[in-house]
Amino acid sequence: MATKKAIKYVYFFGGGKADGNESMKNLLGGKGANLAEMAGHPALRLPVPPGFTVTTDVCTYYYANKRTYPKILTAQVNASLAKMEQLTGKKFGDVNNPLLLSVRSGARKSMPGMMETILNVGLNEQTIKGLIAQSGDERFAYDAYRRLIMMYADVVMEKAAGIEPKGGKGIRKVLDEQLEHIKKQYDYKSDTDLTADQLKELVKSYKKTVRKILGKEFPDDPAEQLWGGIGAVFASWNGKRAIEYRRIEKIPHEWGTAVNVQAMVFGNMGDDSCTGVAFTRNPGNGENQFYGEYLVNAQGEDVVAGIRTPAPVNEYSMNEQSKHYTSLEKLMPALYKELYSYQKRLEKHYKDMQDIEFTIEKGKLYMLQCRVGKRNGVAAVRMATEMYKERLIDAKTAIMRVAPNQLVELLLPMLDPKAELTQIVIAKGLPAGPGGAKGRVVFSSAEAVEWASRGEKVILVREETSPEDVDGMHKAQAILTTKGGMTSHAALVARGWGKCCIVGCNDIEIHQEAKYFKAKNDTIIKEGEWISLNGTKGLVYEGQMPLVDIDIEKNQSYKDLMKLVDGVKQIGVRANAETPEDAAAAVKFGAEGIGLFRTEHMFYGEGSEAPLFELRKMIVSKTEKERRAALNGLFKYVKQDVKATLKVMSGHPVTIRLLDPPLHEFVPHDKEKLRQLSKELGISMSMLNRRVLALHENNPMLGHRGVRLGISYPEITEMQVRAIFEATAELVKAGKKAMPEIMVPVTVIAHELRHQKEIVDKVYAEVCAKYKMKRIPYLYGTMIETPRAALRADYMAKVADFFSFGTNDLTQMSFGFSRDDIGGFLPKYLDLKILPDDPFQTIDQDGIGQLIKAGTDNGRKTKPNLKVGICGEHGGDPASVKFCHRIGMNYVSCSPFRVPIARLAAAQAAIEHPRRKK
Ligand code: ADP
Ligand code: MG
Ligand code: MG
Repeated sequence: MATKKAIKYVYFFGGGKADGNESMKNLLGGKGANLAEMAGHPALRLPVPPGFTVTTDVCTYYYANKRTYPKILTAQVNASLAKMEQLTGKKFGDVNNPLLLSVRSGARKSMPGMMETILNVGLNEQTIKGLIAQSGDERFAYDAYRRLIMMYADVVMEKAAGIEPKGGKGIRKVLDEQLEHIKKQYDYKSDTDLTADQLKELVKSYKKTVRKILGKEFPDDPAEQLWGGIGAVFASWNGKRAIEYRRIEKIPHEWGTAVNVQAMVFGNMGDDSCTGVAFTRNPGNGENQFYGEYLVNAQGEDVVAGIRTPAPVNEYSMNEQSKHYTSLEKLMPALYKELYSYQKRLEKHYKDMQDIEFTIEKGKLYMLQCRVGKRNGVAAVRMATEMYKERLIDAKTAIMRVAPNQLVELLLPMLDPKAELTQIVIAKGLPAGPGGAKGRVVFSSAEAVEWASRGEKVILVREETSPEDVDGMHKAQAILTTKGGMTSHAALVARGWGKCCIVGCNDIEIHQEAKYFKAKNDTIIKEGEWISLNGTKGLVYEGQMPLVDIDIEKNQSYKDLMKLVDGVKQIGVRANAETPEDAAAAVKFGAEGIGLFRTEHMFYGEGSEAPLFELRKMIVSKTEKERRAALNGLFKYVKQDVKATLKVMSGHPVTIRLLDPPLHEFVPHDKEKLRQLSKELGISMSMLNRRVLALHENNPMLGHRGVRLGISYPEITEMQVRAIFEATAELVKAGKKAMPEIMVPVTVIAHELRHQKEIVDKVYAEVCAKYKMKRIPYLYGTMIETPRAALRADYMAKVADFFSFGTNDLTQMSFGFSRDDIGGFLPKYLDLKILPDDPFQTIDQDGIGQLIKAGTDNGRKTKPNLKVGICGEHGGDPASVKFCHRIGMNYVSCSPFRVPIARLAAAQAAIEHPRRKK
């Protein structure tokens, strides 16, 4: 008679076999699936202590059924226990030869915040006798016992039971203090110094304390211990910390966790025993070298917890602190060789760097865990490309192995991580510009420039920055602001330059007049004193810390990766740049053109004096005649500027945006400058003042700017276009290549484009005639940065050869969020998850993305080969780049420094969603 097959809730592993395997992570959790794989896969069959995994289905059942288990579970657990007993020759709860267990949690993804592991389950006043008899080591047995009581009291009796410790001091801490107390009493340095008798005493006092504080006896029944442990794992899935962690990491609550129960092996059985953690390659730099640490006579978490300084597994793994210790390779050569061969086997099998845990018990090696190891950006790139060269993985896999943002770490010098370990953080802010920096503190842009001109390294510390500070910001090693968010001026500028920057650091109070700042812990830093910044983490340190330098050209792995990337990506990557130096940097980073050249850039910073003066003259001009005179003065600067960048880009397209900002931004405020202006213009100071006043606007962002300037004053457009055509003509005549794309900003209607096109056509004819040329290469297009322009894309495309989505303004105008003022409300929006992300950092695909997609599609309905790109911050954001790829854009453009990141993101997008070849 056929019976319905019972659901399998328990998966056994051990003895060279396993019910499960690596592909069953959803059911068995990551740890359980990998234990099964290591134990049972024919290519591995590693010495894994036998055990079993209780599936995530049981977790689901547990919560759906008032925290109870399926009836059949007990029988399945007991059957697996029996198999373990058979394989180990020990018996759970036996007084002569007891089997001890570890109970380990294991979700699909590793989840700090979940239950910690309980070791030595099954020990009590009776079974300990058996353990002593078997091991002949009373000290070891009591060491194991006191660990069990501590872990069990903490994890099962307190945390899983939901007991809030009195005064915030948990039971583990209380018991830990008792241990420390005894050590102090006898002047011991290490746990291993405690004698058997002392540990015995400790066990007694632990039990008393548990009873007193938690109001319950530590359970002496092995079965109760086991089921208590299993229950605690499931309960911890809905513990406060775990829920919080899932919220942040966006892990679904329905997943549930599995429980792994495994036979104990003991690294604390004396000097022929040890426990360790190792990586198949160095996770710090990616080198293909076995790297790890171990502790003799220790158990479980001792290595990670930092109770003792661990020793290196081999010479390669030695560091300053561990160089005096004997390596495992020297201490136990045969076992090291065995371990070495297993890690090789594991990496070959998983085709990725593995993080492994092992224990040696009295000269026998056991493997306790393996998983894909975490790594930093530098290591990620190296491992990916070297594994590709070793033919361990294919090109696509190599490309997908590196997170685009990890590349940032390759491009910036950073604080020496070793030095950071020994320093105190005096303030914390938002990590706006990664990398590290050190410098002497100054509190104004002018001072930054002045100090820097004397060859001093400075860090500019301000409440916030504005375009006026650009010079000082450029000269500073790093920027630290107390206000503003990740899209504040300081953050934007720093990111563009790849400069280290911390913003919104409100741990710091600036006393501008007295020239010092006070950090939260009352540290006072005066002007000229040194600080060091970790811009990757947003940490501020006092004093000078060493930097480790990085030269990308020397990084062969980076170059190898980028070669693979360029082989698969389908969308172009350009850079936003306005100086020949920036353009050259962009080319070095692999930019295929300039997607945004802002003409007004020449009016800021170094060398801006002269053109700025001409611009100001133009701004305060009243008549066309005055204005034309000023524009004539400006012409040569614009031409020079454009020409220099076109030249560097030698034929790669350069999108030149016509003058965009509201004019009043450039009006001088100091008396001396004003006087000089009035003199040159031949008008009185009061007249000049009246003209300046008239330029004031209530809402300059929505005011007289962009194409509106060119409509009001066609001669402004005329001058710029003439400069562009002449620059191009001269380069072409000189046998060089040049490809300008004239871009009209802030348009809302096709008529604006037509109006400006007439000027372009007129000047074009004039310049062709002047240089006796039949044609000068160029494209005419517009930025799409107002919602109306996006909605009318089909009409805009009648006049424009190309679109470039200006997503900063488009986001600002569609959301109605002022990007300079979002600091006031955005943090709360993000906190409450009203918005998933800052829309100025990553394209809001549901809203703004729809405008962009519709704009692109509709534009191409009018003009099928319309060139479409994006400029602005989003062009360097990996998720946004992938979005641009998917909707069929021709290119993205971002700051030079982010070009490699955009290229990698573009390649990944092409792998994830390949475009059909035309
Ligand atoms: P985590 O997820 O925090 O790494 P683990 O379940 O791997 O937790 O266990 C924590 C520690 O206990 C590790 O050092 C592990 O090696 C050790 N451990 C787990 N199971 C056993 C076992 N069966 N025998 C000996 N040590 C074990
Ligand atoms: Mg582990
Ligand atoms: Mg704009």
